[in-house]
Amino acid sequence: MTRDLDLVATCFEQIARRDMLLKELSRWQIGGPAELVLSPRSAEELGAILRLLNECGLRYAVVGDGSNILFDDSGYRGVILRIGSAFSKFELHQEGQVTAGAGLWVPDYTRRVIRAGLSGCVHAIGIPGRLGGLIAMNGGSQRRGIGENLVKATVVRTDGEIITLDQEACNFSYRSSRMQKSGDIVIEASFSYEVCDVSSLRREALAILIERNRKFPRKLPNCGSVFLSNPKMYDEVGPPGRAIEQVGLKGYRYGGAQLSLHHANFIVNNGSATSSDILALIALARRRVADQTGYFMDCEVRYLEPEGAFRMAHEVA
Ligand SMILES: Cc1cc2nc3c(=O)[nH]c(=O)nc-3n(C[C@H](O)[C@H](O)[C@H](O)COP(=O)(O)OP(=O)(O)OC[C@H]3O[C@@H](n4cnc5c(N)ncnc54)[C@H](O)[C@@H]3O)c2cc1C
Repeated sequence: MTRDLDLVATCFEQIARRDMLLKELSRWQIGGPAELVLSPRSAEELGAILRLLNECGLRYAVVGDGSNILFDDSGYRGVILRIGSAFSKFELHQEGQVTAGAGLWVPDYTRRVIRAGLSGCVHAIGIPGRLGGLIAMNGGSQRRGIGENLVKATVVRTDGEIITLDQEACNFSYRSSRMQKSGDIVIEASFSYEVCDVSSLRREALAILIERNRKFPRKLPNCGSVFLSNPKMYDEVGPPGRAIEQVGLKGYRYGGAQLSLHHANFIVNNGSATSSDILALIALARRRVADQTGYFMDCEVRYLEPEGAFRMAHEVA
């Protein structure tokens, strides 16, 4: 295993980092060392990496900006593939069509689309993360998801082949997509938006940002909403944040982690939180809400097992 890792690191030494602490890649600022981190610069290079990893039987995981991931304190025994700024293409075509790279920072992408007078992704203006991560999570706000306007995505399959998927093949649903199960890595996507007045789009974006700044914790490291909203529970009890508040856990601390006083569906790192602290709070909130409401809340946040794959965090909490 170590010899194989050495081989991969040597073959791709210009884009390799050994023993990088995953807390550097995590918005929660939590996570031990990853044996190897590779930041591919093109789809072809990514394809070559995947083929070599498969040949060597090495474990790997894909990461964007780490804004929806809980890494373990013991790190990751395998290769982290980081899809970042090398994939930063942004092209405007006719009639509201946009093609963009998976490494674009979501707020930057959104601003550029707004500046072009196109409507359809303003809801994503305040969401940290890379476009590829947003597509894989079908992330969004205002009850929307980025997949709604996606026309096609270029992905690298686990066998290294580069293919194009149309919207239907991406299998989008609430905060979910085919990519989460298939392991396809998004490198680029095309979207179709409506032409709109730039100043009204700017007003809408500003209103969203003001609302987010008011509602969400901004100073302490966090990974956004921890639990997914469930429509049935929403109608009966309310969103996860309200349910956690109603069972008396808003502000509750465990070790260095805390269910935020600003918004109880956010867990903040007060400076010394460990992955076990976060998982303990997830388990506690889930159990307490289920005891009092009958609803088991599932996590949006994904946990990377040190010797395995991504799981929804509640499955391991
Ligand atoms: C303060 C804060 C607020 C947030 N608000 C929102 C919100 O309003 N709405 C919302 O939906 N989310 C929100 N999030 C969560 C997060 O920002 C989004 O899910 C984000 O788009 C994830 O992008 P990322 O690059 O950080 O992905 P990561 O966290 O790095 O990865 C998330 C998942 O996507 C996969 N992935 C990443 N890149 C790729 C790729 N190129 N191809 C295939 N799979 C990939 C990973 O393997 C992982 O399973 C928030 C997070 C924070 C910290």
